[in-house]
Amino acid sequence: MSAIANPIVKLDQIYKSFGANQVLKGVSFEVGKGEMIAIIGASGSGKSTALRCIDRLETIDSGSIEVCDIRVDDPQVDLHRLRQEVGIVFQSYNLFPHLTVQENIMLALRHVKRQPRAEALRVSLAALEQVGLGDKAAAYPEQLSGGQQQRVAIARSLAMAPKVMLFDEVTSALDPQLTGEVLRVMEDLAAGGMTMLLVTHEMAFAKRVADRIIYMHQGKVWEVGPGEMLDAPQTAELRAFLNNGL
Ligand code: ADP
Ligand code: MG
Repeated sequence: MSAIANPIVKLDQIYKSFGANQVLKGVSFEVGKGEMIAIIGASGSGKSTALRCIDRLETIDSGSIEVCDIRVDDPQVDLHRLRQEVGIVFQSYNLFPHLTVQENIMLALRHVKRQPRAEALRVSLAALEQVGLGDKAAAYPEQLSGGQQQRVAIARSLAMAPKVMLFDEVTSALDPQLTGEVLRVMEDLAAGGMTMLLVTHEMAFAKRVADRIIYMHQGKVWEVGPGEMLDAPQTAELRAFLNNGL
């Protein structure tokens, strides 16, 4: 296995089944501090499950997962601490419609981080500014475009000051035009040194921005490499995947 200098996330031989369906079959990879890794692969290849295991939204059957110095597969794991270190953003943004954008972000700061109101106001505004929405603090979600709502969801995660951010197809529900603004936010984050692991169908973006790409196929890491690996696939499976654009 390749030696990553400062691994923040370490997956070692992860197995996971849902009933008789073995979804992850010995998945291993590491994410170094400040690295941005893109996971690609056909629908059903286990990308989301792998991501969800890292934040312990799913438990694994065997193998080990470490995030920072937390053993995620330990039954006694401190979930509160884990979820402070790991931010996760999904395709659906799940903002509360009756709260303003800033109030949405402040919720976890107040109730999970127990920040005083003044501090939560300051931190939430800074997070909104980071995603280019400082002027939308008082808006309600329905007044924003899908791309803007997704940027709010990213800001909500960022405000918690995680050490690693996971993104699961965060642009899949958006028009191409709105996709661009969300990708730019992720590119800025990567440039700023955030450790990131993202599942995406945006091949051009993955190739340009990711330090490494992981291609998953049928529950296994099939190929790993820098962006150029997409120009010269080593396996018939990756070649077929890239040609079919699934
Ligand atoms: P991907 O994100 O690559 O499309 P997933 O990780 O979502 O793949 O799914 C991999 C497989 O696991 C699929 O066959 C899917 O039906 C199955 N699966 C995912 N989550 C669950 C679940 N909660 N219960 C049962 N099966 C699941
Ligand atoms: Mg998925």
